[in-house]
Amino acid sequence: MNAPVPAIEVLSAEQVYPNGTRALTPVDLTIQPGEFITLLGPSGCGKSTLLKMIAGLLEPTDGRLLLSRKPVNDTKVDHQLSFVFQEATLMPWASVEANVRLPLDLAGVPKSESGPRVAEALELVGLGKFGKHRPRELSGGMQMRVSIARGLVTRPKLLLMDEPFGALDEITRNKLDTDLLELWRKTGLTVVFVTHSISEAVFLSSRVIMMAARPGRVVEDLKVDLPYPRDEDSRTSPEFNALVRHLHQQLMAASVSDTEEAH
Ligand code: ADP
Repeated sequence: MNAPVPAIEVLSAEQVYPNGTRALTPVDLTIQPGEFITLLGPSGCGKSTLLKMIAGLLEPTDGRLLLSRKPVNDTKVDHQLSFVFQEATLMPWASVEANVRLPLDLAGVPKSESGPRVAEALELVGLGKFGKHRPRELSGGMQMRVSIARGLVTRPKLLLMDEPFGALDEITRNKLDTDLLELWRKTGLTVVFVTHSISEAVFLSSRVIMMAARPGRVVEDLKVDLPYPRDEDSRTSPEFNALVRHLHQQLMAASVSDTEEAH
């Protein structure tokens, strides 16, 4: 049998911004189709930088990034990826449906085809009944669901999420985490999710890539061997807590070496 084609290959990719900030030292990372990966680490360790390079929004200063073995920035290839940001960035004057339909309108998809796809995406995020609402009538968590639906409406294979629930209260965030896992299970998407919350990373991921700052680098690549489906009870299991403790210790160790370097 042939080896599966990796969804994402990061090959010695580095990033030095024009002002000289060394945001990422060379990173090597292979992600298989269907994995749920989190990039975990403190502010400034290069998580967003790496995610933007995977999305093709930022060229690496050195190294290469491939999606299904094809260069990320190859304009001839449709990589079928969607990016969800921390801000829902919805058009306030337009209905939920119109907001979700936007990527299809931009791609010239006829209404007869886009209608059912919008309905399907809204169902997936649990907002099947809210298509006619305006964004301001929805809570912050629901607005984020709309933003995720807008990401799903193009039926991507790869979903990139940059701290999507970072601005939400803990209860809402936990609920969205659980629902996101259910959505992942249904769709079989490959997900790369950025967070600085250790417990969120352990709860969601099949694999955690832990990063540290100054300079931005990967310090651990950890498989999370907790069974799916995961629910609120998973957050209190001894195995869950052991993984959280382990990552916390690693993070402290990486931060201590930062401080020492600074002196
Ligand atoms: P994270 O997502 O982990 O918080 P970032 O990828 O946003 O980290 O940033 C990594 C480092 O690069 C930080 O030191 C940040 O200040 C710096 N940085 C991010 N974007 C730019 C930019 N456009 N120009 C210069 N430095 C940047």
